[in-house]
Amino acid sequence: MRLIAAIVAGAALAAGAQDAPTTTFPYTPGLDVASMDRTADACQDFYQYACGGWIRNNPIPPDQAKWSVYGKLYQDNQRFLWGILDSLAKNTNGRNATQQKIGDYFAACMDEAAVEKLGARPLKPSLDRIARMTAKGELGGVLAQLHLDTGDAGTFFGAGSNQDFEVSTQVITFVVAGGLGLPDRDYYTKDDARSREIRDKYVAHVTRVFQLLGDSAGVAAKNAATVMDVETALAKASLTRVDKRDPYKLFHKMDRKGLRALTPSLDWDAYLAGLGIAKVESFNVTEPEFFKAFERELGSRSLEDLKTYLRWHTAKEASPFLSSAFVNENFEFFSKTLRGVPQLRPRWKRCVTLVDSQLGEALGQEFVARAFAPKLKEDTLRMTKRIEEAMREDIRTLTWMSDATKKRAVEKLETIVNKIGYPDKWRDYSSIDVKRGDFFGNVRRAQVFESKRDLAKIGKPLDRGEWLMTPPTVNAYYNAQMNDINFPAGVLQPPLYDPKMDDAPNYGNTGGTIGHELTHGFDDQGRQFDAQGNLKDWWTAEDSKAFEERAQCIADQYAQYVIVDDIRINSKLTLGEDVADVGGLILGWMAWKAETAGKTLENRDGMTPEQRFFVGYAQWACENDRPENLRVKALTDPHSPGKYRVNGLMVNMPEFEKAFSCKPGSAMVSAKRCRVW
Ligand SMILES: [Zn+2]
Repeated sequence: MRLIAAIVAGAALAAGAQDAPTTTFPYTPGLDVASMDRTADACQDFYQYACGGWIRNNPIPPDQAKWSVYGKLYQDNQRFLWGILDSLAKNTNGRNATQQKIGDYFAACMDEAAVEKLGARPLKPSLDRIARMTAKGELGGVLAQLHLDTGDAGTFFGAGSNQDFEVSTQVITFVVAGGLGLPDRDYYTKDDARSREIRDKYVAHVTRVFQLLGDSAGVAAKNAATVMDVETALAKASLTRVDKRDPYKLFHKMDRKGLRALTPSLDWDAYLAGLGIAKVESFNVTEPEFFKAFERELGSRSLEDLKTYLRWHTAKEASPFLSSAFVNENFEFFSKTLRGVPQLRPRWKRCVTLVDSQLGEALGQEFVARAFAPKLKEDTLRMTKRIEEAMREDIRTLTWMSDATKKRAVEKLETIVNKIGYPDKWRDYSSIDVKRGDFFGNVRRAQVFESKRDLAKIGKPLDRGEWLMTPPTVNAYYNAQMNDINFPAGVLQPPLYDPKMDDAPNYGNTGGTIGHELTHGFDDQGRQFDAQGNLKDWWTAEDSKAFEERAQCIADQYAQYVIVDDIRINSKLTLGEDVADVGGLILGWMAWKAETAGKTLENRDGMTPEQRFFVGYAQWACENDRPENLRVKALTDPHSPGKYRVNGLMVNMPEFEKAFSCKPGSAMVSAKRCRVW
């Protein structure tokens, strides 16, 4: 007995050391020599040279689908947020109103015993509403409530606000395709053995969820087959991800009459009234063909079939917030089977993620106050200006673009708004009722708040200050309609941006990322929007042609790279990211050269400043990935794998060849170099 007790305590202690809330950040330097593999030849495989040590030293944790420098930093951020939330959950005295909300939300989420006791009961109101339907005509009203509750397009389709593609200052209603349980329409349409296997396992999973809802084995299996039938019909009418990169294919403005004509069997008036936008008249239906297929399903299916489909999506969406039977079943299929993850994330991680996604700007205030000093904002803003200057110079010296288009490109560049760290104005969550003993209710109320906040923007003046990511997020984005670049505080931390480091690795790493986001404004998708964020062609025909030829060079290059098994990169899907990667690093290089002009730079760790610039760049992209996850990403991820986000750039840069004195014919020296920007 004693021995067992000692072992258990020992195990708990070991787990506790890695798995405990923290009030300090672990420091990982921006250029980490230990993460390199200096036995590798930089000219043959630069990714291995710069990341080999990291890859060896960082096996994928059992609760992750992949592991990367970004993922690891996000986990550090999460542990830090856990420290904040743990304290706000336990020390209820002296909290302000915002701290009360995130503290109590976290406390309710962490109370696993209470969640367990409720089982499937929190679903009852939604399931009852579905059960009470006596005619298909009631679907509009029922769907409106489900959409408000979940905020996503999982159940048949979705509706929300967005800027009009043609007039970016106007916010209109977007009605978008959805309705699938699997991560992409291709899962339903492809006929290879692996796709068929995933479909079979998906149907088995849906069957088990129906059983958790109380169906007998036979009924559950029949219901799962119905779900698969409906979803397959919707999938076949859905655009591919590559098609969805073309904004013109997603732009179909119409009035309510047009909407009704696409899907006359849905009571749109009841639906829109249910969303609280009864008077809205202007819509963009992103995929009209999908809504015609939806009409065919509504017409041909029995009311019972439609109810079956609604029950599945209601349970699927809510599973992560229910008892362990639902949580585990959801994990088994969507994480273990689909992505190869062996272990469910511990509850604290799931709860921190939820607070971040539902009350992100409340939690973000606490994060920013502790982790994002004004000096950091100042320094990264200065770097951003440097990168913009580099882009201006880059555009000026392009050989393939006419002066007329250059003038417009510079105008667009100068209009881009830089958003660094966190929003100027924090979102007001005061109307959400957060209760300490009501986890599921909190999730629902926060989601309904978000759905209504989003819908309330329709017809109102555009809020240019809004962020689409929360401050602790380790990521960044460019928004073509806003024409802004956004860098959350979470991504401007070591080892990505390291205030203790010199310019070489920082300009390679964060400079390259800023360059990447800026270049998105001018990639194959972004270039179609003008300085005001309108979908409007500002290119001469010859310049468009010259752009497309250069982009095709990159598409052809990346199409050669293998992701996993014999699956190659779908470079039509990744083109925008690949163009942004190549352009971003060039801008980082130019900005670094300008920043350090006239300065004497020293060698360090046996590397020249130029070599350190490139290693600094590469070390953001070090990663390990599971084969199952790579297969999902091959279908869904617009980014190329880390290895090619490094090596695919080096082969195009003469500056790299020179920095490492690579001989012609080396793997990292391409005979045919691609460059757009
Ligand atoms: Zn990108």
